[in-house]
Amino acid sequence: MELVLTKYFDDENYRHIDTYMKYGGYSALKKALSMSPDEIIEEVKKSNLRGRGGAGFPTGVKWSFVPKESEKPKYLVINADEGEPGTFKDRLIMERGPHLLIEGIVISAYAIGAHTSYIYIRGEFVKPARILEEAIGEAYEKGFLGKNILGSGFDLDVYVHRGAGAYICGEETALIESLEGKKGQPRLKPPFPAQVGVFGGPTIVNNVETIADIPYIIEHGGEKFASLGTEKNGGTRLFGVSGYVNKPGIYELPMGTNLKEIIFEHAGGMKDGRKLKAVIPGGSSTPVMTPDEIDVPADFDSLMKAGSMAGSGGIIVIPEGVCMVRVLEILENFYAHESCGQCTPCREGTEWLRKVVSRIEAGKGKEGDLELILEMCENMMGKTICPLADAAGMPAVSFVNKFRHEFEYHIREGKCLDAEIKI
Ligand code: SF4
Repeated sequence: MELVLTKYFDDENYRHIDTYMKYGGYSALKKALSMSPDEIIEEVKKSNLRGRGGAGFPTGVKWSFVPKESEKPKYLVINADEGEPGTFKDRLIMERGPHLLIEGIVISAYAIGAHTSYIYIRGEFVKPARILEEAIGEAYEKGFLGKNILGSGFDLDVYVHRGAGAYICGEETALIESLEGKKGQPRLKPPFPAQVGVFGGPTIVNNVETIADIPYIIEHGGEKFASLGTEKNGGTRLFGVSGYVNKPGIYELPMGTNLKEIIFEHAGGMKDGRKLKAVIPGGSSTPVMTPDEIDVPADFDSLMKAGSMAGSGGIIVIPEGVCMVRVLEILENFYAHESCGQCTPCREGTEWLRKVVSRIEAGKGKEGDLELILEMCENMMGKTICPLADAAGMPAVSFVNKFRHEFEYHIREGKCLDAEIKI
């Protein structure tokens, strides 16, 4: 199976530029600089690369929204804020293959006409930030960054900007606000960042994994990358499997690999022979799935059709013996804590969701609480500036609908139906 990103990750020197170049690194950049920006964008469109941060928007199409002419400078911003619970793939790229990202940045910035790029990295990622800084220094020394890159006349500076640990700064407009030195709160759209982004200039915000795929696409061609995945879902993706499996970790697999196969073959199946109870397929905000729903390709379109989402590729595996009310309580605590507070439905709704789920978990649930949860979600989802309210609502709706008997038992009996494993 062809690996796009992780092929050399076992070589611990791969994060250094000499080793990266020994394996062919930066040859894609040389090729890209001999192409026109439009040719690169065309190649990325052909690749069917879709944003790996969670939304799954086609990358080449996003780039084509940047105006060709602009009075203000253009920017490329890398979203390295990776804060979605269950997601830990970008950290691996930054620690093991930072030059994949840097090479991708130079090619992508050249394609959209940006001369400044920021890597916005979550504050907790101290080690990846240090490794990136070192790698950027190496790239400047070799002439892959700075003025007149490889004699092409193209200039680019890259800066690492560390966040302060707010989940909402992973939302692209909140990230931009934070980058500008303001409170990290999402902006109303439109205008979209491709028109008005960082310091008012046209800005593309892309996830780490998305940009790290770019060197392969330029080196081998968009069609080759597309052929690795499924229709409209090109390439491979890093699936992060966590929870009650024998081999939790990151697996690079073709887009559209069967979700059940990822859990039971690649991640080694259920630990201690326990039965599978539920799967959250793409980070904590994606609707939960039951075991009979997971025989499905794990790509954006197939999971959407199955009633969930591919999201960030973070697969959380929940075994029999875990109380689903408690799991939802953990999730809703998180979203209530992370709401930025701008929109009433989100600020009030996430807190109320947290309160109601917590009282059910504490054995103080009331009749009508489940209807209340569903009604609150109805009043939150799709009614706010950014998708955080949906991120809190989607798990709540799916947990209550799919594991209703556990919630009802909790309300009726004042205790868990199934809580052998304490979480
Ligand atoms: Fe802030 Fe929530 Fe509104 Fe998003 S939905 S802008 S997090 S209050």
